Order: sequence, then structure tokens, then C-alpha cells
Amino acid sequence: MDKTTALNELKEWEFKISAYNLLLSTAMFDESTIAPKGGLEYRSERFAYLNGILYELTTDKKIEEIIIYLSSLDDLTLEDKRKVTLYLKDINKTKAIPKDEYVAFSKAQMLASDAWEKAKKKDDYSIFKPHLLKMIDYQKRFALYRNPDKDPYDTLLDDYEEGMNKEKYDQFFKRIKEEILPLIRRITEAQKIDDTFLYRFYAKDKQAKLMHDINAYLGFDKDWGYMGISMHPFTCGMSNNDVRVTTAYDEHNLSSSIYSIIHEVGHAFYEHQMAKEYDGTILKAVSSGMHESQSRLFENYLGRDKNFIANYFYKMKELFKEELKDVTLDDYYRAVNASKPSLIRTDADELTYPIHILIRYEIEKGIFDGTLDLDDLDKIWDQYYQEYLGIKSDRPSLGILQDIHWSDGSFGYFPTYALGSAVAAQINAKMRKDMDVKKALSDDFKKITLYLKDHVQKYGALYPLDEILIKATDQSFDPDFYISYLKEKYTALYHLDK
Ligand code: ZN
Repeated sequence: MDKTTALNELKEWEFKISAYNLLLSTAMFDESTIAPKGGLEYRSERFAYLNGILYELTTDKKIEEIIIYLSSLDDLTLEDKRKVTLYLKDINKTKAIPKDEYVAFSKAQMLASDAWEKAKKKDDYSIFKPHLLKMIDYQKRFALYRNPDKDPYDTLLDDYEEGMNKEKYDQFFKRIKEEILPLIRRITEAQKIDDTFLYRFYAKDKQAKLMHDINAYLGFDKDWGYMGISMHPFTCGMSNNDVRVTTAYDEHNLSSSIYSIIHEVGHAFYEHQMAKEYDGTILKAVSSGMHESQSRLFENYLGRDKNFIANYFYKMKELFKEELKDVTLDDYYRAVNASKPSLIRTDADELTYPIHILIRYEIEKGIFDGTLDLDDLDKIWDQYYQEYLGIKSDRPSLGILQDIHWSDGSFGYFPTYALGSAVAAQINAKMRKDMDVKKALSDDFKKITLYLKDHVQKYGALYPLDEILIKATDQSFDPDFYISYLKEKYTALYHLDK
């Protein structure tokens, strides 16, 4: 075999894989937005079949040999070298699982997601419970097939964030516990910020109009972006110039859809601004923590800055003349930044957010090391909320049923949310040193998206998280940026003594 032939074969194979991936992602987007529930069984069988083809393509012996050959060469480009490393990891991950189990799992995932949706609507955990236990069982088994000698949860953590494991997350969450929990307790005792006006009635069509304006200001463009509606907001990147986000409007919560859209548009920009030649290759497969850093940066560090808010506040006041007639910019700024323990992660403020993640992390650890009774996960969930945040849900839809992640077996994903928030703090600090972010937030958001493209997003998955951070901020990951950001922001907002 020679290098040129091998690289050509790799390209051809990548093209095939990307064609199936496009088909499956389009179908999944359709599934989560407009597909009638009645057709689920029919669709899930065909999806499973397509996943089977993808399995065969991925584990093709010939391509594995080509990739192993390429990995032995030392004159590959940086991009090809990284691709080869990532493909090999992916092939090993897939081929460790027998095909029939792989296909059965993909079908079980769809049925579990459907059961989760039903259970959440009916507020009945028992509908979802058997599916959840099945997902746990699958993921434990698969992780052990892949790395028989490794802790299964460590295997899963590494899937979502290369190089991460329990030991590293334990250290990170220990800091969060020690530094953030006491601050939350102090704020609970401080004078409350009035945010009650956010929960008046805000008509959906007017909210949609507002979102149209905010998206235009962010630069989320119809030429490459589309916004749909789904139960659980998400982003789906088909290619550089085809990125889809979804939202859900809540007529009794003004800021919920605003911030969930800004969040998803942050993800969308990442997909849109990676080097175009990475389309259809594994270099688009950015780690979850890295991806989340960009969405959380948009949502919180930029979106909740007063200069950004001022940009849409007056338009919003025009739209909701009656509803917001007694509300000033300052009232609104304080309300969307107010902190109080709450039950729903996606609506949580910045300060309590990492605690929601800490809870899920501890539960996942317990699920995989066998220290938790799987029969009582709903009750355990409530106990954790009581212990850490001093509140408890009286309904499973506000407790264990709130998130979609476990319904498709995505264990190990949650911790990347807190990691991403912390990474965002570090990038935010550096960006504010390098440029006048306040000014850009008020009159030229494009300067910010271009900065992020050049310093972070263009790399795609070419480097692991820490290497991108070193390039973008001149230093390794340091959770201190996150902790001091939260401390400074909330000490000032609540007029606490330092
Ligand atoms: Zn996100």
C-alpha cells in the first residue's frame, strides 16, 4: 500500500460514512420536531437497519487496515494524523460491541426516548423506569466490552471529553462544592431580587418575533441556520452551512426561550465556524465540554451582560407594552441574573447550575459503581436536591424525568456541562482582555463571533480541549476563572460583603 492510495481510500470511506450520518441526523431532527408519534415503531426499525449499515461501514476490516497503515507513517499532515487517531478510537469503540447488540441498542434508544416523553407528559416515572434500567444495563455492558479492565464510568466520561475521568472530575466538583455551595447559602439568606414579572403571560407569537430580532443581531443567518420547535431544545449540525436549532416557548416564562435560543445559537456558531474542509470528517466531532463552552459563553457570559440585554430590552418592551410597563432595564437585568435554588436544570441560574450537574454526576457515579439502589433512582434524585439545594420536587417531571439524556443512554455527558461553563469563563476572561467586549455587545456582535472563530472554533476537533485552551488563552484549564467569576458577579449583584 502507498500513502496516496491509502489517503484516497480513506476519503472515499469518509464520504460514505458522512452520507449515512447526514441521512440519520436529518431523520433524527425530523423525529424530534415534526414526526407523528404513531409512526415510531416503523421508523425505529428502519433507523436500526441504517445504523446496522453504518456499523458495518465503520468496522470494515479493509478500512481498519488502511487506517492502521496510515497511523504508522510519520509524514502525515496535522489534520490527517489527528483524523487517524480519532477514527481508530471510534472503530475500536464500535467493533468491541457485537453487531446484533449494537442494532438492538439503537432501537431500544428510540423506544426509551419515546417512553421518557410519555412519562414526562403523564408525570409517571414507572413508564420510563424499565427503559432507564435497560439503558444502564446496555451502557455498563458496552463499556466493559470495550475496556474490560477500566471502570465503566471512566470509559463513558472519556467518550464525551477526551482524557477526562472520575479522578479529574472529582477534583473539579470538590472545588465547586467548597466554593459555590456556601455562596448559594448566603444568597438564599440575602434580600431577594424581584423576578416575578418574568412569569406573567407572554404570548408565543410575540416571543417568536423577539427571537427573530435577537437571532438577527447574533448573526444567526437563514442561509446556514434554521430554527424549529421541540420539547427539549437542541442543535443539530449537518454541515457548515446547514445548522439547525430548536426551542420551546413557555408563555409563562419570558426569559426561558430567550436564553435557551441564545444557548443553542452558541452551539450553532461552533458548527458553522469550524474549518469548512472538516465537513463530513471526524474533525467536526468536537468534544461535549468544548461545545458546551461556546453555548454557555453565549447564553451567560455574553447574553446576560447588561450591554447585550440593553440591545434587545427596548424592542422587547415595545412588543410587551402592557406586560413590561413597570419594568426598567435594571430590573430586568437583575431578574435574569437572580439566583435561587430551583428544580429544573435548564432554567437554573448561573450560580446554582453547577450544583444541578454535581447532583447528576454523583448519581451517575453511584449507578456505575453499584453503590446506589437502581430501584430507587427517583427518590435518590429528590434526596440529592434536598441535601444540596434545600428543595424537593413533588412530581417526577420536575425531578428525574426532566432531562432527555438518560433516555438514550448518554451517561457521562452531564459533567461536560459544568466543565464547559468553566472553560467558557476562561475564554471569556481572555477575550475581555483582548478586545472591548462591552462595546461589541452593544453595537457589533460580529466582532465577537469572529474572535471566537479565530481563537477557538476554527480548530474543530483538531486538538483536545486543553490544547485549544492553551492556544486561545495561553494556559491550561484552570477552574479558578469560573469560581472567581461567579463569586465576583454574585457578591456584587446581592450586595454581599466580600
Ligand atoms: Zn448545550
